[in-house]
Amino acid sequence: MIRIELASRVRNLPPYLFAEIDRLKQETLKAGVDLIDLSIGDPDIPTPPHIVDALKKSADNPAHHRYPSYEGMLSFREAVADWHKRRFNVSLDPRTEVLSLIGSKEGIGHIPLAFAEAGDVVLYSSPGYPVYPVSALFAGAEGYPMPLKEENAFLPDLKSIPADTAKRAKLMFINYPNNPTSASAPDGFFKEVVEFAAKNNVIVCHDAAYSEIFFEGKRPRSFLETPGAKEVGMEFHSLSKTYNMTGWRLGFAVGNKDVLAGLGKVKSNLDSGVFECVQEAGIAALATGDDVLAPLRNIWEERRNILYEGLSKIGLHAIKPEATFYLWAKCPGTSSRRTLDSRAFSRLLLEKAGVLATPGVGFGAAGEGYIRFALTTDVARIKEAVERIKKAI
Ligand SMILES: *Cc1c(COP(=O)(O)O)cnc(C)c1O
Repeated sequence: MIRIELASRVRNLPPYLFAEIDRLKQETLKAGVDLIDLSIGDPDIPTPPHIVDALKKSADNPAHHRYPSYEGMLSFREAVADWHKRRFNVSLDPRTEVLSLIGSKEGIGHIPLAFAEAGDVVLYSSPGYPVYPVSALFAGAEGYPMPLKEENAFLPDLKSIPADTAKRAKLMFINYPNNPTSASAPDGFFKEVVEFAAKNNVIVCHDAAYSEIFFEGKRPRSFLETPGAKEVGMEFHSLSKTYNMTGWRLGFAVGNKDVLAGLGKVKSNLDSGVFECVQEAGIAALATGDDVLAPLRNIWEERRNILYEGLSKIGLHAIKPEATFYLWAKCPGTSSRRTLDSRAFSRLLLEKAGVLATPGVGFGAAGEGYIRFALTTDVARIKEAVERIKKAI
């Protein structure tokens, strides 16, 4: 028997903060509790049928059964450029400024390998998508969390980043509309980011996974709409949340061609691109009009309204989101006026209400004191969750 030892990059992974919640969830299910799971960032609504049909049709063509090109079919990259132009009025060269990804997580996970190493810093907003700090760690770089605080509208305070840290920074991950806080970026914020990046020579990676899940016609902007943005950065997009395609694994990177070339170089050595039939389905997805997307947004909006109003009525302070399918809520105080920490509140909801929500600290230390509800369950269950929470607290 050999000694099987993990490499330090895996040994040094941050502790998995959801492990305790996972264990409690399994116990709760085993005990036969009717669990309402509001913890999952994965739409419960199926992929629209015209997209599924495009995959089926494409699957019959053997030409699509062979290795794809790592950068994506030109037809897919053209569809991305057309979509970006229509949606944001940003022009992209499909040959150099668009790269297909096996889901945006893949690109986020790989990009630090192209640009950061030991001695470098990767700035990332926190609480946030856990892949940002892990990808920095895997590249051997040092992660620097930029806290998103409610009093600062959940925007990072770029001025508070120490000068020597900013100087060593190679990459910055930001994400609006934001998971988990559900905040949107106000006008002016991206301009500040471009100025910071230009001054400190930092590549900006904007994660726009939720750009199409918005309410009341408040369409989020692309980072690339900002003057100078294409000189300093790029944007990650995902088909997962927009078209209910999380299982399909399709996303794309757009923006600065040298940044995309670096990411492409890593990818060409590690993966072999996206299955062409999935790219063809992606072309059909990107052509989807508001006739299909507006009713989907209405589903999220109705759920948002019910949960937001329900929680407010029972005295829980939640932020009413303009986008995303999450609600970020403050943990309540206990009778002794001490605020419950997020894991304790999550445990209380699970044990007393059979409702599962994600403790904020799982998204980074700055998420402590909050809990995230995902709207990935139907209206009747959300209403019942509110009733049960009311009784539990
Ligand atoms: C869901 C999500 C992603 C990843 O999406 P995929 O394209 O499915 O990999 C990236 N960033 C954030 C913030 C997300 O919530």
